[in-house]
Amino acid sequence: MWIFTDRPERDYDNYIRDLQRRIERHPKCICCGENIPHDHAFRIGDDLVCEDCIDEYLIENCMEHLDDDE
Ligand SMILES: [Zn+2]
Repeated sequence: MWIFTDRPERDYDNYIRDLQRRIERHPKCICCGENIPHDHAFRIGDDLVCEDCIDEYLIENCMEHLDDDE
């Protein structure tokens, strides 16, 4: 929660800081190691994967499977 002032650039700074504080409390994505910026993530076993990494994560797992069959 922040108060809007007559200085938009200060309002923007406060908004960004507030957003960052909130994101820092989110769990970390096991792929990129960043705090998950969304309200939800994908749980794979004990892993949490953010929306941005889920495609890559699933593709990597598929490739590992293919390697096992050789
Ligand atoms: Zn990620």
